[in-house]
Amino acid sequence: MENFSKVSWSNEESLRIGAAIMDNIRDAVIITDLASKILAVNPAFTEITGYTEAEVLGENPRLLRSGRHDQAFYQDMWTSLRETGQWRGEIWNRRKDGEIYPELLTISTVRNEQGEPVYCLGVATDLSQLRRDEERFQQLVHYDPLTGLPNRLLLEARLQHTLERASREGNKAAVLVIDLDQFKVINDSHGHAAGDALLIAVIHRLRSRLRQADTLSRLAGDQFVLVLESLHEYQEAEIMAGSIQAAMEEPFILPDGGKAYVRASVGISVYPQDGATAQALLIGADAAVHRAKQLGGKQFCYYTSELNVLARASLEMEEALCLALQREEFVLYYQPKVDLRSGRVASAEALVRWQRPDFGLVPPLEFIPVAEKNGLIEAIGTWVIQEACRQMRAWREAGLGEIKVAVNVSARQFRGGGLEEVIAKALTCYGIEPSHLMLELTESMLMAEPEEAVLRMTALKRLGVRLSLDDFGTGYSSLAYLSRFPIDQLKIDRSFVNDITTDPGAATIATSVIALAHRMRLSVVAEGVETEGQLGYLRQHHCDELQGYLFSKPLPAGEFAELLREGRNLPVPEASLQARTLLIVDDERPILTALQRMLADEGYRIFTAASAGEGLEILARNVVQVILSDQRMPEMSGSEFLSRAKVLYPDTVRMILSGYAELDTVIQAVNEGAIYKFFSKPFDMEQLRSQIRDAFLYYEGVITPQRRENG
Ligand code: C2E
Ligand code: MG
Ligand code: MG
Repeated sequence: MENFSKVSWSNEESLRIGAAIMDNIRDAVIITDLASKILAVNPAFTEITGYTEAEVLGENPRLLRSGRHDQAFYQDMWTSLRETGQWRGEIWNRRKDGEIYPELLTISTVRNEQGEPVYCLGVATDLSQLRRDEERFQQLVHYDPLTGLPNRLLLEARLQHTLERASREGNKAAVLVIDLDQFKVINDSHGHAAGDALLIAVIHRLRSRLRQADTLSRLAGDQFVLVLESLHEYQEAEIMAGSIQAAMEEPFILPDGGKAYVRASVGISVYPQDGATAQALLIGADAAVHRAKQLGGKQFCYYTSELNVLARASLEMEEALCLALQREEFVLYYQPKVDLRSGRVASAEALVRWQRPDFGLVPPLEFIPVAEKNGLIEAIGTWVIQEACRQMRAWREAGLGEIKVAVNVSARQFRGGGLEEVIAKALTCYGIEPSHLMLELTESMLMAEPEEAVLRMTALKRLGVRLSLDDFGTGYSSLAYLSRFPIDQLKIDRSFVNDITTDPGAATIATSVIALAHRMRLSVVAEGVETEGQLGYLRQHHCDELQGYLFSKPLPAGEFAELLREGRNLPVPEASLQARTLLIVDDERPILTALQRMLADEGYRIFTAASAGEGLEILARNVVQVILSDQRMPEMSGSEFLSRAKVLYPDTVRMILSGYAELDTVIQAVNEGAIYKFFSKPFDMEQLRSQIRDAFLYYEGVITPQRRENG
């Protein structure tokens, strides 16, 4: 106010002008006496702090304190006021509604005519808006406005951090420059708005492939940079490059409904070998992406030439793989799956090999992932299915009988659609009974999209083929889903089987998988059984089948046939043979014989009786767990017989075969608990066989009745 008097306004004028300023200024003004009692505040004060004049008059400004500053801070403020008559600084205060905000505060003492301090005047500017503007500014400086991705500036800063961390932890890192081939064409032909929409869709797909820690940023136009940190192997960058290209495979739908095919070239530089700084790595990756484009685009290049040599070798393999089908270089080997109860070969798993000229027999794990990546897997998979069916037919014609075969299905084949058609065609072409073909699916391919998977599997089941869940335990199957998958078989992964006799953890997993599978009416195969110990353990825990070197390696078709001809079996210990005993009662001899033959492979000890009386005689002399009886018999009906058996041998699981005419009596017996299950005639042999298996499992306490039906 002293200033105003210098321009020699009258006292009254100064006061009026002062008041007008107080009312109109956007800064909060607060006047206190020397005892810090508030004497006046202006409207802006109320607006900023939320306190009305009436609420603060007579109060101490302390009521605005945020609690963010310590005592020393306020002491400094007072010292400065006392000594210089002024304090200026940024301070955090609290509004009435509790919000803490930054303000720029100037406090000065106001002196009277004698020069003695009488008041304190505080003028405060609310900085919150400014801070928000600053953040926006940072955003503009560091992020790309169209995509919201970090721009080059932020990228370099982050990359530098990544490199420092990698150096500390002894890890590798990689910089991938991604350039969209022919993006300009789309921009020119569909307009910039379409181009922008496309970029955003591209980023969306790219993001879906990234890990949490990976940084994606936009360099310019259609160039992106991806920083991969904490890599153990530089090849992880190559895999990511492949994944990026795969992500672009499906066409993009433009806002105008048009389709756009985007291809990505990728240049890769690797830390530490290609450079130690962000700049160097970016330059390297940029040079590499240029090379990739020069080579025709839609590929990746390393900055370093040695790495390119290795990548080239895998490229050559890819090219050779493309020709392998037409050159008929693939061959199927067959590995027996052996029934643990009977010791007999139950079926075979077909495993593909590639006879690559100059390279020898290439195992599937070396080329299936490549084929999966470049899409060849679908053609290879189709060949595998056809070849397996052809072989089944050939074995049948050679007099080896009906051999069941399982084929492996790859993720892409499963997802791709058209699989049902391929299977149906092969089955018809070679006259194969659908239930003799089994498809092995892995957990990971089902769990990627479990809902979709259920639909696809249901469609496959409709063909009549059977489904097996391969490598079980290695993926992330949620048990909730497992019960919804219409599968027939579970294969316990080799890694568990391997440690089954030494590692209690692996053993627990294996045994609980067996129990779980049985409860869900699934049969269980143990993969990779190599020792007698493993075999013994699996047998004790009622595993159904085994597959592994202990019995046989995968064999060429000819050798597999030889093994069958020789009738090679897994020796079965007596005790386990006798463990499961079945009594069949029927007055018609031919039916007894047929049933006995059908069950021959199951490894049961089977008694037959031509009448109820004979049946009771056998029960008295032997331990029997499961009884299967015909209803219609001359002396005593089946239901009557089973009712007696119930009283005499309550633990037995009793089942009946019945025509519709006798249904009433049978139902009554079912209701009285004399019968566990009945089958109406004519009955389905396969179903009967699996129900008898269930009956034993039920007896052994592994399953409860009718919890679930498969197929
Ligand atoms: P998989 O389906 O789990 O097949 C079992 C693998 O374990 C086979 O390896 C087999 O040779 C091996 N194996 C069997 N018993 C033992 C044993 O006692 N000890 C040891 N150490 N290994 C044993 P292979 O033939 O190299 O096949 C590897 C994988 O390649 C298969 O695993 C399957 O996922 C895939 N594959 C094989 N053929 C095909 C095919 O036709 N199509 C598709 N998509 N994938 C296939
Ligand atoms: Mg398999
Ligand atoms: Mg497996």
